[in-house]
Amino acid sequence: MTASAKQRPVDCPCGGAAPDRRDTGKPPRFADCCGRYIDGGAAAPTALELMRSRYSAYVLGESQYLRDTWAAQTCPADLDVDADAPDAPRWLGLQIKRYTPLDDTHAEVEFVARYKVGGRAHRLHESSRFVRGEDGRWRYVDGDVSDR
Ligand SMILES: [Zn+2]
Repeated sequence: MTASAKQRPVDCPCGGAAPDRRDTGKPPRFADCCGRYIDGGAAAPTALELMRSRYSAYVLGESQYLRDTWAAQTCPADLDVDADAPDAPRWLGLQIKRYTPLDDTHAEVEFVARYKVGGRAHRLHESSRFVRGEDGRWRYVDGDVSDR
């Protein structure tokens, strides 16, 4: 993947998802939402915002951002997201079910992400764990996938 000529949407792929937010809201602009973290290099202030930006990074195929926001001990060595691959999931939307800050450096986010692969619809329902490093940045650790 090259870093040149990145296509960026106007509306943020994450839709500004939050536990108290319904689909009726107008999505935030990408530049004002996840773009600040993915392109701007700013640190997501909460695990909730990091979660949203990671969803948007999957939509946009930003493998480097996904690696940078994944805890070193759990990040897959071969992580590579190619959003243009024929078998790549087409992400349809993010819903945040629950955001639980546990303490200053630990938080959980439960979400449902809907996507299609080869015309078939799927949903990923996961409770994700996040930690905040000594550099002040939140990172994804792992998650429990629910089949409901
Ligand atoms: Zn966003």
